[in-house]
Amino acid sequence: MHQVLVIEDEPAIRNVLKVLLEAERYRVIEAESALRAEIESRSHKPDLLLLDLGLPDGDGLAIIRRVRAWSPVPIIVLSARAQEQQKIAALDAGADDYVTKPFSAPELLARVRAALRRNVRGADQRGVLTFGAVRIDLEKRAASGADGEIHLTPLEYRVIESLARHLGAIVTQQQLIREVWGPERLGDSRGLRVCIMNLRGKIESDPHKPRYLLTEAGLGYRLRAEDA
Ligand code: CA
Repeated sequence: MHQVLVIEDEPAIRNVLKVLLEAERYRVIEAESALRAEIESRSHKPDLLLLDLGLPDGDGLAIIRRVRAWSPVPIIVLSARAQEQQKIAALDAGADDYVTKPFSAPELLARVRAALRRNVRGADQRGVLTFGAVRIDLEKRAASGADGEIHLTPLEYRVIESLARHLGAIVTQQQLIREVWGPERLGDSRGLRVCIMNLRGKIESDPHKPRYLLTEAGLGYRLRAEDA
């Protein structure tokens, strides 16, 4: 049974989350403050953190950074619709995903399941990705589609690898640039945009309506692959 730590100061929302998660047979631990979150996450070692960014006694970002210092546990951030900058900062600090309030129950539960699956697979697993007829073997650096072999450049492999490490979750532009091009190129997103465009041409059947390499407007990208 997976344990989920719900960090949320509003009792009504906390309760909704608890009811939802318990109905799916997750064990729920609750924290109403940043201080409590720290204590509960260390003592229970939860499998997932659901974190509201606006807490009375502290910054959600500080919690993410502190937890990331000792744990790769998946963190899903809950944030209000207008807080785009906050979402980017949370993802850059090491959150895996976000859900916008007011959230829909099926969406929230789908994100929780996806995050827990990633945790089981391991953060840096290399493997084979399938996008419709396209198959990419990250270890062998080989790709093929319905018409045979597909050539990916080393840079394209690195972008796909970086996205695949966070499969199903958002990776911010800055995160991708840092991992693929290096910190000295932060702020220069043109190379990344070109690379994404080329990758879509290679893996998507309709690059203008991507099904796998998705843009999260203003935030970054999300890679979806078909379940093996
Ligand atoms: Ca709050």
